[in-house]
Amino acid sequence: MARVFVITGPSGVGKGTLIRGLVARVPELELSVSATTRPPRPGERDGVDYHFLTDEEFERRIRAGEFVEHADYSGRRYGTLRSELEQRTSAGVPVVLEIEVQGARLVRAALPDAVQIFIMPPSREALRERLVGRGTDSEDDIARRLAVAERELMAQDEFAYKVLNDRQTEAVDELESIVRRELTHSLSR
Ligand code: 5GP
Repeated sequence: MARVFVITGPSGVGKGTLIRGLVARVPELELSVSATTRPPRPGERDGVDYHFLTDEEFERRIRAGEFVEHADYSGRRYGTLRSELEQRTSAGVPVVLEIEVQGARLVRAALPDAVQIFIMPPSREALRERLVGRGTDSEDDIARRLAVAERELMAQDEFAYKVLNDRQTEAVDELESIVRRELTHSLSR
């Protein structure tokens, strides 16, 4: 089966930007499109950034067993659809999941061979600055995300790899080397 890479870490740490940099360098990687009940931000497209679902539809899909993992985050639901993963891994395409920590734990249990990477911020202040600076979340939401971040940071040692996102290029270099090493590994097994 093709490899699955789980990239986690607190909201505002820059997971999305690092992953775009990673996929530009390792183009065979594909990103799984998650489902969520949060509303789209300006510019986000359904089926591209997320599958935007109603609460009822999300619930229906849980009952139908369509999720590999799902979690509540900042008052909304997020989950990885089995179809997003399976259509790629069965075709031999390595997949990247960008998810929060509870989901990463669930994937660890469901897919123990998945490669788990935690992205660390240089400081708590840097997280706050990014969340405020991107201007996509309300003040309440930012406060909730920072509170969750405290718990998420405590979980970092559970992860096989930790990458510090201080200088972006260096963080992408490190991610690329982890991914290339793991992809070579799986070929030699
Ligand atoms: P945002 O609302 O900022 O897009 O995402 C909030 C958090 O949910 C981020 O930490 C993001 O990585 C995480 N997330 C996105 N998709 C999924 C998913 O499919 N499952 C889980 N567990 N978390 C997700």
